[in-house]
Amino acid sequence: MTGVSAWSRNDPTRAGYRHGPCLVTALPIPERAALFLDFDGTLVDIADRPDGVSVAPGLPDLIRAASSAAGGALAVVSGRKIMEIDDFLALPVAAAGMHGLERRSAPGADIEFAPPPDAIDELRQRLSAWDGLTGGVTMEDKGAGLAIHYRADPARETEVKTAMAGFTADLPDLHLIHGKMVVEAKGTGFDKGAAVDAFLTHPPFVDRTPIFIGDDTTDEDGMRAAQSAGGFGVKVGDGPSCAFHRVPDVAAVHAYLDAFSKGARP
Ligand SMILES: [Mg+2]
Repeated sequence: MTGVSAWSRNDPTRAGYRHGPCLVTALPIPERAALFLDFDGTLVDIADRPDGVSVAPGLPDLIRAASSAAGGALAVVSGRKIMEIDDFLALPVAAAGMHGLERRSAPGADIEFAPPPDAIDELRQRLSAWDGLTGGVTMEDKGAGLAIHYRADPARETEVKTAMAGFTADLPDLHLIHGKMVVEAKGTGFDKGAAVDAFLTHPPFVDRTPIFIGDDTTDEDGMRAAQSAGGFGVKVGDGPSCAFHRVPDVAAVHAYLDAFSKGARP
């Protein structure tokens, strides 16, 4: 590894672990790395509504440079649909969308879709008859998954979680993912860890040290997969995490991608 002055081990008992200015430069830059990047809260700041995020002007170039430094082994791994990521970045990066239900195995390749379980149709019907989709509680229909957002009305968290648990209790082909101010139902067997494992089986990702950077509970599977494969996870912001490393915010992720671009060997 290069550029390692100190390991920013994710130890909350260490003074200053959250805000130490050394964290970014202390993050290791492996010689042959594969980068897996969550989108919301990692590459862009979270907004009240999913369509409200703004992309920093330099971000696409930053991603292009980091991908090049990783020999093309960079993928965005998000709960969003890949087409949304494309709209934001204007860059057809390798990607896993909807927590792995969609996959683009290499930059510019076709998007492959896992078939949605029939139970999603049943849940859609139940949600369309639910009187809770009002005010700040909104449904996002992703086709193969259904997400209920309550960021615009956080006080209704318990109501949303209880309703979704009830609606899916007799639908064993679905499981719920609890993210930041969102509950999402999708088919079992797909998560960010499975997405990482799938990428690591083929070029340009194979035989590289995987790095997974994410901010949310759904990213923990991706971090765990990266760490099981000899790499490491990077948690963005506060909150419990299995990640070996932590950075404070989106700006620190951008700084790491910049350092990675200059320091990594493709
Ligand atoms: Mg996120």
